[in-house]
Amino acid sequence: MLQMCREKQVQLSRQYQQNTLAHAIIIQGIEGSGQDALAKWLIELLICQNPLSITHPNGGEAVSEACGQCKSCLLKKTDNYPDHLLLNTDNKTLGVDDIRRGNAFFEKTAQLGTVKTILIPQAQTMTVAAANALLKTLEEPTPNSYIVLITEDLDSLLPTIVSRCALYVIRPIIGDALLAQLNVSNNGYSQGSNSSMVSEQVNAYVNLSQLPELTDKAIYQEFQDFSENYLDYLTQGKSENKLLSQIVDSKHSLRWLEKITCNLLREYYLNNITGKSSMMANKQISAQVLNQIYQAIITSNKLIKSYLQANRQFVGEQLLMTINDIVRPSI
Ligand SMILES: [Zn+2]
Repeated sequence: MLQMCREKQVQLSRQYQQNTLAHAIIIQGIEGSGQDALAKWLIELLICQNPLSITHPNGGEAVSEACGQCKSCLLKKTDNYPDHLLLNTDNKTLGVDDIRRGNAFFEKTAQLGTVKTILIPQAQTMTVAAANALLKTLEEPTPNSYIVLITEDLDSLLPTIVSRCALYVIRPIIGDALLAQLNVSNNGYSQGSNSSMVSEQVNAYVNLSQLPELTDKAIYQEFQDFSENYLDYLTQGKSENKLLSQIVDSKHSLRWLEKITCNLLREYYLNNITGKSSMMANKQISAQVLNQIYQAIITSNKLIKSYLQANRQFVGEQLLMTINDIVRPSI
């Protein structure tokens, strides 16, 4: 497993041994960062009847691991373990029926072991209805049940889902260090040295869709301008044309809308805890309004992602109109 997952393994092992593991877990990492391997390791550990404790050759804290020999492990290997459910979809989205299948699975008694597990590998493909169905499960967990969600894009998950799960983020190196590493890897690759390992490294970072504003100064500036325009529009109804042209022209724009709105919502929740007043509250925009806007943005984003022919101009105009109606409903 990649080195950056190791610390998460240690952390999760410790919680597993102390019986403090959360029943709902989100593992977030960009494609190739090892999030699938980490989830697989965790599910196998949860299922195993006779787990081992393994010390790394280089020292450090021990990591728990499935034995690979017990009845549960053997059944899991052949995909015949009855108390695990993989919630996958052949469609572009994971629908409410898929989640209901999961809920029904949790309601049944475990057939073999005492533990039941569900894995949702592409959690960001959940529709809003599916996510709401999942919320019920997260709010009222059945005993000895674990649900593991994997996502590349945390901002595509409803904040209400994220807030009910323990979050493990596999962070790639960002900024200059990442670019330097990319250069090293690419050079190494072109010279053909140690190619399989190097190509694995390149793959780990090839999906930079989440990171351009962190690595590229020009895009960072664009992101800043975009944030300003969006906040202007949100709080005062200004900068509509600038915002719309950015939505149409920049491929990052809808993700940015999600990200900024999600951060505003997080600020609300955090300030609620600390008793401070958030910026949006000062502008008379409630968390409920932000949540509605967030859902409208996700819907537009999904529309753009799922239909190649979707017209950005049209979707953008509709979205801004919707946001305006939410923030400033006509009387
Ligand atoms: Zn085992």
